[in-house]
Amino acid sequence: MKYALVTGASRGIGRAIALRLAAQGLPVIINYLSNHEAAHDVAREIADAGGKAELLPFDTANPEAIDAAIDAWENSHPDDHVGVLVNNAGIRRDNVMFMMPDDDWHAVLDTTLNGFFYITRRLLKHMMPRRRGGRIINIASLSGVKGMPGQTNYSAAKAALIGATKALAQEVAPRQVTVNAIAPGFIETDMTRELPQDELKKLVPAGRFGTPDEVAALAAFLASDDAAYINGEVININGGLYT
Ligand code: NAP
Repeated sequence: MKYALVTGASRGIGRAIALRLAAQGLPVIINYLSNHEAAHDVAREIADAGGKAELLPFDTANPEAIDAAIDAWENSHPDDHVGVLVNNAGIRRDNVMFMMPDDDWHAVLDTTLNGFFYITRRLLKHMMPRRRGGRIINIASLSGVKGMPGQTNYSAAKAALIGATKALAQEVAPRQVTVNAIAPGFIETDMTRELPQDELKKLVPAGRFGTPDEVAALAAFLASDDAAYINGEVININGGLYT
């Protein structure tokens, strides 16, 4: 059976993507770091709606933890494969660069960019053989497209994710695997809760932040059969903030 793995699916955008993919009929693997209760709630919501969900916590910044978790999943699912991978887990540790501690630089790159590398490389073997096909969807950011002051670490991680998306798309297209990035602007989640929303909304032509579900609708389309010929794209979703 084909599964979807969504990293960082306990909250925010990842949660909304997991719910959408499950509603589209895919069994969903919910990854998260530590928020067991929120992850259980997502799984319960999916099950209540008639879908199927499993929890697979691991730290996307830890290659050994990634391997151990995926090994365990594969061993317990010998007849199943991950056909849709959404690399969504991400953090921000904002600071002007001349004040930025090493840890904040590395934590952001490890969680977002290195996590993408280790998880995707590992799961490509579920998608490449026998032209089984697959969908890889990377959640980037407007910050990676245009650069944002105070976010050199986050902008670097997301810009690199966009570069990797374009390169990998060309590598795996012959095997019917697509790799696309979504670059959201300001979306209402825990990550943006402490930002000065009233001020920032004035910068957005649409006059509001986006919702996780609006991002999830795009991810669900990219995961669908209808999106088979979209490959290597970066799709902005930002209310017209920057195009
Ligand atoms: P969020 O509400 O802060 O949720 C973050 C999710 O990632 C949680 O499920 C969290 O798990 C998980 N996570 C964090 N670090 C992890 C790690 N090391 N290993 C595994 N899971 C980890 O974030 P969000 O706003 O939904 O953001 C989701 C993605 O969209 C991120 O990549 C973010 O950079 C990107 N994005 C967000 C916005 C925005 O405005 N919100 C804009 C552009 C791009 P726990 O619950 O266990 O902590």
